[in-house]
Amino acid sequence: MIISRTRKELEIALNKLSEIPGKLALIPTMGNLHQGHLSLLTIAKKKASKTISTIFVNPLQFGKNDDFEKYPRTHEDDIKKLNDEGCDLLFLPLNNKEVFSSIDNIKTIKSGTLGLELCGKIRPGHFDGVLTVVNRLFEIIKPDIAVFGAKDYQQEILIRQMAKSLYPNLELIKAPIIRADNGVALSSRNNYLSEPELEIATNLYKCLYKSSISYKENIDLKVIIDEAKKYLNSYNLSPDYFELRDENLNKINVNGYDGKKAFLGSVNINKTRLIDNIEF
Ligand code: AMP
Repeated sequence: MIISRTRKELEIALNKLSEIPGKLALIPTMGNLHQGHLSLLTIAKKKASKTISTIFVNPLQFGKNDDFEKYPRTHEDDIKKLNDEGCDLLFLPLNNKEVFSSIDNIKTIKSGTLGLELCGKIRPGHFDGVLTVVNRLFEIIKPDIAVFGAKDYQQEILIRQMAKSLYPNLELIKAPIIRADNGVALSSRNNYLSEPELEIATNLYKCLYKSSISYKENIDLKVIIDEAKKYLNSYNLSPDYFELRDENLNKINVNGYDGKKAFLGSVNINKTRLIDNIEF
């Protein structure tokens, strides 16, 4: 695997890769890689002849009370994992300037009203930061394909909407959520949890799953959501939101919706916020 730490090195590496025929797939990450991230690479490798992963803890998507400073940075391990999985190129920028060139002159992408809902309500500006960096990576790398995880349901929809207008030829792939055996969705933030907290975290997935079954059984949606919040609170998993949304993130308030949809939940265990969802 080639590792590029600067834009210049990236340019040289991309030129080299361009000699290989076929498509280039991008997997953007913030590092601290786990099987969830690596599953995106596996999918990318099936769809493209060349893969590039990026590891960049994007300061623009962290609010002032977020965990930017303490976000786990495990470059050595990450490099080994990507190499073992057969990634062709890793862009691991040395600093912010290698991504944005001029920090004073960043092209900000706005996430609109959808970016203010759900996670955006709790983390103002978060999705503008996400879209701004993803747009920048698309600009620099010009991939044919990009893979994002369904774990970040709202993020995937916002990126899809942005790409539809700015990158109509880019193919976006949504990768399924990878979970631990106990059902907890893999996440770098799980590292902040103690063993007992991780055990408690299993109740978020249990709750999402139970809610999806209840919806299929036509139990009143309002009752399902009230019960879900009560259930989460009973485990001290204080919920920020628990909602049913369709594939464009429109809120579903009624029973009997038979299109693609997902229950989405965000909970707090002490100071750690976890998100998860179940599509059905
Ligand atoms: P992050 O490093 O958290 O920004 O995540 C990078 C990419 O990996 C995003 O597209 C996430 O949605 C995806 N991802 C993170 N966790 C999982 C998981 N458990 N299953 C599938 N994809 C994931």
